[in-house]
Amino acid sequence: MEAARLHEYTEEMSEALSIDEVDRPEVTRSDDVVVRVQGAGWCQTDNHIIEGMWTDYVEQDLPMTLGHENAGEVVAVGEEVQTVSVGDPVICHPVMTCGECRQCRLGEDMYCENLAFPGLTTDGGFAEYLLTSERATIPLPGGVEPIDIAPHADAGITAYHAVKKAVDELNPGDPAVVIGVGGLGHIGLQCLDAMSAADIIALDVKESARELAEELGARHTVDPTSEDVPSVIDDLTDGHGAEQVIDFVGADATTGYAPDIVAPGADHHVVGYGGHVHEPSQALVDGEFSYRGTLVGRYTELQELVRLVERGDVDLHTTRYDLAEINTVAEKLEHGEIDGRAVITP
Ligand SMILES: [Zn+2]
Ligand SMILES: [Zn+2]
Repeated sequence: MEAARLHEYTEEMSEALSIDEVDRPEVTRSDDVVVRVQGAGWCQTDNHIIEGMWTDYVEQDLPMTLGHENAGEVVAVGEEVQTVSVGDPVICHPVMTCGECRQCRLGEDMYCENLAFPGLTTDGGFAEYLLTSERATIPLPGGVEPIDIAPHADAGITAYHAVKKAVDELNPGDPAVVIGVGGLGHIGLQCLDAMSAADIIALDVKESARELAEELGARHTVDPTSEDVPSVIDDLTDGHGAEQVIDFVGADATTGYAPDIVAPGADHHVVGYGGHVHEPSQALVDGEFSYRGTLVGRYTELQELVRLVERGDVDLHTTRYDLAEINTVAEKLEHGEIDGRAVITP
């Protein structure tokens, strides 16, 4: 089968991955599931993996097939698999978990002590077939197409996970700020709108993204290139600040807003990454605000998100690309030229 593989870390996205002929994965364990990949979302994390940014955090054995936002049709199952059958449409939670460790038993899939992460630590879904496990597959309800929902496997669940934490802290009418209305942000904004009665303020440098934000439920939009963000938030919140900030960018400039825009005792959720947090410790003491990290989400949260999608509450803006166009997609995302989410169709 064909697979888009990373052979060497590089900054050069135009030649990031090569299309190789590799063996099709087969069932060897009793809980294995092989999925024919119909859609695999391209993620900023793929660019970061290609640049070698994950080598300090996980072990990677190159060459490796990338692609961690996968959905498709089950084509083979191990003998003990009960919850999915051959022919079922499924979305794959991005990690394969053991189910036995304490973190798994607490439902914290992302903290599993024995996890494998296809597309990050093992071969992923930019290929015709993907090996995953029963614990990672979620059957899709009728009417939800794998190719359309694939990016929710990581982009969606990550946005949902951050929003769910934020919503716990939001009362109706509270101001909530969404920074960045791109691939993750436009999903997060819809989740926030569906799950809370907050007043949503969306920031984005692109006019098209601000327009999309308004369509998706933002009450106010801010252009950080022409407006002074802290004073706009100050005006919109009567000087109080935002009760929750969800930062889908995670650049130095956006994490740096926190001391000026987060309400006392509130949170700045860091979802996007690549920059640093370097605000004075005194600012955190004075405002008693917190930076909170976000790492994907639980299996059960992906189930919940699938429900929201089925109900029509969360709509994904996607563009489809062939496997052969994968480096073009990598380049386009690097240059901010993809609106919504790119989906590779191997
Ligand atoms: Zn991703
Ligand atoms: Zn585990």
